[in-house]
This record gives sequence, structure tokens and C-alpha cells, in this order.
Amino acid sequence: MSHADSASPTRVVLMYAGRPTFSCSNCTAVFALQDELISKSFSGRDGRGYLMHSAMNLRLGTKEDRPLLTGVHTVADVFCVGCGDRVGWYYHKASDHSQKYKEGKYLLERERIVKDNAWTLHD
Ligand SMILES: [Zn+2]
Repeated sequence: MSHADSASPTRVVLMYAGRPTFSCSNCTAVFALQDELISKSFSGRDGRGYLMHSAMNLRLGTKEDRPLLTGVHTVADVFCVGCGDRVGWYYHKASDHSQKYKEGKYLLERERIVKDNAWTLHD
């Protein structure tokens, strides 16, 4: 899996200037620019998950060790600051060396986010 563009922008982005974003499906709080997307081929709790370089407008829940498909990870659920919905989780730590690239990144549940305020996401 490639994520060569490690020069990720700063976390707080105030200007979108028409660039596509991912937002909360419930309250439309903006979580991330589409540029932050690393992969769409992750598994969330209820379905597909999107791995993101960074995200905003999220509140971190309690840190816990969770067995995922790729081994035990230390994660924290993330909640929308707008409506309080759980929308995914944050990877604090991965136990398996091959999964270290996920650390410090966000998994957003596909069902909980919308792109550009549309109601469907396209692969
Ligand atoms: Zn929300």
C-alpha cells in the first residue's frame, strides 16, 4: 500500500475553495478534504472504512486495545463534534509492524460520511 505523499497539510484547514470534502452524514460538519484520503479499502465496524491522513471536527473517545482484521490495534473511537455521532476511530498504535503506517491516522466509516454533501459515495 502506497502513501508516499507524507507531506500532509496542517490539520486545521479554514479554506476549502471548492475542493471536495468528506462531511458528517448527519450534520454536515466537515471532517477532511478529499486530499486526505489514503485508502477506501478498509473495513469499518459496520462496513467499508476510509483511511485518512488527518481529520478535523472530531472528538476522541477512550483509548482501547481492539482486535481488528489486521491484528490488535490501540484505537480510540472518534465522534463528530457537531452531532456526537460515532463516525470511526483513530489509530494510536498498531502491534504488528506491518500495520505501523496506520498510526496517527483516522478510519472513517463510509456509512457515516458524505462527499461534497452528496448522499452517495463513488468508488
Ligand atoms: Zn455530525
